[in-house]
Order: sequence, then C-alpha cells, then structure tokens
Amino acid sequence: MTTNIKHIPYADQPCDRCGGKKCVAKTWKETIPTFSGTTQVEYSQIICTNKACQLLFDENLEKEKEKKEIVRLQKEEKDKVRKANSLLQVHISKKNKSRI
Ligand SMILES: [Zn+2]
Repeated sequence: MTTNIKHIPYADQPCDRCGGKKCVAKTWKETIPTFSGTTQVEYSQIICTNKACQLLFDENLEKEKEKKEIVRLQKEEKDKVRKANSLLQVHISKKNKSRI
C-alpha cells in the first residue's frame, strides 16, 4: 500500500525571523517504510531570500547539529554503562542460583 503525504511548508508566508520573502530552494521525495508498506513523503526546503538571514539560519542549524551529536554520544555512553551493569547483574543472579 502506498499513500502520499505532502509536507510542503508555506513558502508564501513571510519569514518568521526577518519578515522577508521566502522561496522553495528544493523539493524531493522520500519513500519511507511503514507498518503496512511504504509511504512517499514529499519534502521541500524553504529558504529566506534575505541572504544574511538565511546565513544566520544555516549557522544555527550547524550548531544544533553539533549539539545533537554531543547529546547522542553522551546517550550512547550511558547505554553502554547501563548494558554493562545489567550484564553484571545477570552474572550475579546466575551465581546466586548456582549456590542454591
Ligand atoms: Zn528571513
């Protein structure tokens, strides 16, 4: 089953950062696997025609990406510790059982 969902932000709305005009930089389609088959999602990237504003936005985007990457790595570390701890607990409980 294939369903089409359109995700098109409104390019004709003024920029919420500078109030300038926005335009569609590019559109692309992605096929995403779902529970019942695949879904085709249409994306479009809307940019501000104000170059200074868009540049600032891109810089913020990069910073956000970096932040997310750091958070992701920290989470991975925590998961590793948690996994190690749970393995340790399994080991201990097995030991206890063998004693009985
Ligand atoms: Zn803008």
